[in-house]
Amino acid sequence: MWETITLMVTVKAYPNLSTKYGEVVCIAGIRTDTTEPEWVRLFPVAFRDLPSTQRFSKYQLITLEAQRHGTDKRPETFRPNIDSIQRGEKIDSKMGWMRRRELVEPLVSESMCDLLRRQELDGTSLGAFRPWQVSDFEITNDVDERGQTKDAIAAQPSLLLPTKNPLEPVALRFRYRYRCSTAGCNGHHQSMIDWELAQAWRSWRDLYDESTLLEKLRAKFLDEMCGPAKDTIFFVGNQHQHTKSFLVLGVFWPPVRGG
Ligand SMILES: [Zn+2]
Repeated sequence: MWETITLMVTVKAYPNLSTKYGEVVCIAGIRTDTTEPEWVRLFPVAFRDLPSTQRFSKYQLITLEAQRHGTDKRPETFRPNIDSIQRGEKIDSKMGWMRRRELVEPLVSESMCDLLRRQELDGTSLGAFRPWQVSDFEITNDVDERGQTKDAIAAQPSLLLPTKNPLEPVALRFRYRYRCSTAGCNGHHQSMIDWELAQAWRSWRDLYDESTLLEKLRAKFLDEMCGPAKDTIFFVGNQHQHTKSFLVLGVFWPPVRGG
């Protein structure tokens, strides 16, 4: 059954190649048409194939027709009718991200460990929380012994859309290492797959040498976004086939209140 839903987009992850759907991107957001804010994931969305009039940005409101997904059993997942997408207002960051905060705050969980417990209980597959201590942003080479990146499949031209430019794989893998605020947390080590990160890598690598590039990425995604001046919240989600494995889908980093 199709229904009309409205959400504020909070997550746009780097595209990957699905054998069933071609090149797809993880889009998630917070519903604004329900009595209380609720997580929603849209799948599949072939973002690069959207006509420019339907391309939306992070923190933009979009309204579309969607229905519960038949094969993706994660409770937040909806199948979108891409042609029905209508772009609305982009929620601004004025007053310390006040309007974005109003939607995000009610969905902030206690911790990553708490989300893992909820995943077991009710299948929760999207969440947000304040990481307690972010100790590292690791950047490793994602190239295997044969000199191919593990995402190399994404570099093959799409079989569905042969004329499209191939998706360039990101040769690096980015992982946050942090502890959450649950007592006894052994720490978490999760890949970060925000599209903005891939874009930063792609645009900065032409400007800087390798070691400067890595420094710039760490300065932005660790020192600034997770620094003491920011009230850092991680958006996380699990993988369809690996439900215990959560990834950092994006970072919400308004200034510390009163700061
Ligand atoms: Zn933890």
